Amino acid sequence: FCRCSLFIPPDSIAISLSLLQVQPKAPLLQILRVAGAQEDVFTLKEVMHYLGQYIMGKQLYDKQRQHIVHCQDDPLGELLEVESFSVKNPRYSIQENLGMEVEDVRPEALLEPCKLCRVRPRNGNIIHGPTAHLLTCFPCARRLHKFQAPCPGCGKIIQKVIKIFIL
Ligand SMILES: [Zn+2]
Ligand SMILES: [Zn+2]
Repeated sequence: FCRCSLFIPPDSIAISLSLLQVQPKAPLLQILRVAGAQEDVFTLKEVMHYLGQYIMGKQLYDKQRQHIVHCQDDPLGELLEVESFSVKNPRYSIQENLGMEVEDVRPEALLEPCKLCRVRPRNGNIIHGPTAHLLTCFPCARRLHKFQAPCPGCGKIIQKVIKIFIL
């Protein structure tokens, strides 16, 4: 294969991460709906925006220290399994706490070879619903689809496989 296809300019990784979209699961989606969200798929920035709207709308923040959010007796508290949290706290990780499908967001993973044959580059995108996993080469991905195997990343049914070209 052409080795040049393995070269990914650092700029393109930054762009793809900022465009990364997540599909919140039901409990989080309900909260985002309350805040006025219409979509099913969001960027992380949009999720944080709607969460902010939700916290403001329901006045969950501490009146004195506004970076503290009290969420006991609220669906948000049930979701995060905490009574209160600080929005300043860097350990407050939306990926871990909100049950969102943000998996393996490692740009360097693109540079690793196919997870199955370990030879060819990862250019076979496995599509399931509005999300996809990029962890195999196109021939391996196509083979999985042909034999109706589930996605090796998450076990979902593979709907489609496409070949990716990184320019
Ligand atoms: Zn492969
Ligand atoms: Zn998958």
